[in-house]
Amino acid sequence: MTLWVWLKVYILALVSYNSAGDKMSVIPIRVLPDPILRQKSKRVRIIDSSVKKLIDDMIETMHAVPWRVGLAAPQVGVSLRMFVIGIPGEEDIALINPEIVWRTGERLVDEGCLSIPGFIGQIKRAVSVKVKGRDQNGKEIRIKANDLLSQALEHEIDHLNGVLYIDYLESMDKLHKIELEETQL
Ligand code: ZN
Repeated sequence: MTLWVWLKVYILALVSYNSAGDKMSVIPIRVLPDPILRQKSKRVRIIDSSVKKLIDDMIETMHAVPWRVGLAAPQVGVSLRMFVIGIPGEEDIALINPEIVWRTGERLVDEGCLSIPGFIGQIKRAVSVKVKGRDQNGKEIRIKANDLLSQALEHEIDHLNGVLYIDYLESMDKLHKIELEETQL
């Protein structure tokens, strides 16, 4: 191998390790009817290195699926109250023990979920929400959101309560089959 190829291998190896020195990994995503998707997740008591590692892995897993918007811990088999959101072109968000402070308005949206692959449904969501929680450093953060971010925050917090978007469908006529590449929350 040439020096350049070795250098590229070295750089790739570096970027696949996070600051704690652990290897980041893509975790298989749980799909219905996996019972963990219907459990109420537990609060995170201490934000320790295992929680930080899980967030890193969830971000890695989320980015492995190009058309996704977010991922909640139960979707990777961990029943803890935390999620990540990655809206294209914006900074990734990781939120631990999130709570909705308020929500306002109502609108119809199309929604999908990585744990219900191949479907999308029309449901009602808030126009905007305010959410609080802690980041991976334990710092309290508050997010006021509209549009897709507002929808994603409601969707991911629902996951932590064992709620899926299909629970809000007025009828199964509102559920459509889609190509897998469409946006999923
Ligand atoms: Zn989902």
